[in-house]
Amino acid sequence: MRAAPLKNVEPFLAQDVPEADIGDLQAFIADHPKLFVITGAGISRASGIPTYRDEVGTWKTNTPIQHGDFLQDPAIRQRYWARSFGGWPNVGNAQPNQAHRALARLEKLGYIHTLVTQNIDRLHQKAGHKRVIDLHGRLDQVVCMDCGALVPRDEIQQWLWQQNPHMDDIKIELAPDGDAHVRDELIRQVRVPSCQRCDGLLKPNVVFYGGSVGKEIVNYLCDKLRQADALLVIGTSLMVYSSFRFCKLAQQQDIPMVCINQGLTRADNLFTLKLAEDCAGVLTQLTEILPHRI
Ligand SMILES: [Zn+2]
Repeated sequence: MRAAPLKNVEPFLAQDVPEADIGDLQAFIADHPKLFVITGAGISRASGIPTYRDEVGTWKTNTPIQHGDFLQDPAIRQRYWARSFGGWPNVGNAQPNQAHRALARLEKLGYIHTLVTQNIDRLHQKAGHKRVIDLHGRLDQVVCMDCGALVPRDEIQQWLWQQNPHMDDIKIELAPDGDAHVRDELIRQVRVPSCQRCDGLLKPNVVFYGGSVGKEIVNYLCDKLRQADALLVIGTSLMVYSSFRFCKLAQQQDIPMVCINQGLTRADNLFTLKLAEDCAGVLTQLTEILPHRI
């Protein structure tokens, strides 16, 4: 399957971002210590969670689930839960890596004003980061679309296991959103969970493609960005508008932007400086050279 083209995607511009090194970034952060940080899939790759896109920002895997399809089509929900049964343990058991730990350390040192992540894996929190906004939700929770009840994903895993003995046959081939590829004939037999309180439709508590981030969260983050000295983008190509919007706002507000990402990003022409390097190495070095601010 091929991914449908995303709306609002601008073509990549030629890379004319100034080459920067760790010393440049250190000096920049010393001058702009109140950072608004956006992280993406690149930061979780070293924790064994595959990324959505490769280094030039194109889709790596099959089409992601669309919000409307999930709500309207029972077969799509069967497919989701079957795949997710195989994929969830990889995400649920994943451990934070050096990059998550370094960011938690930078928060303790007093440099992180706000951290917003596109990731749904909760690895920043597992690393001890205190103030994290999960822009696209969290995969460790399931939400009832009718009554709003929240259920731990592990409970649903247990239910899926008990109600679907053939889950054993599922072949696991991981895809980025906690999915796994599963044969069609197995999917048609899948019993899907429903809300124990109201029998309503259960959905993982994440923002699917075609879904939207809550307005209150966006407004809250826009306020936080206006209070920040600079925006730091880490491990994302910013292809999703829900995070690219913060670069647009930073541009309007004259808030400088810097980036640590190995591939191209949608905002490359907006960065004051960019380090096209492994984020774990760069962030760890920063924790060693930046002094405590608090
Ligand atoms: Zn319910």
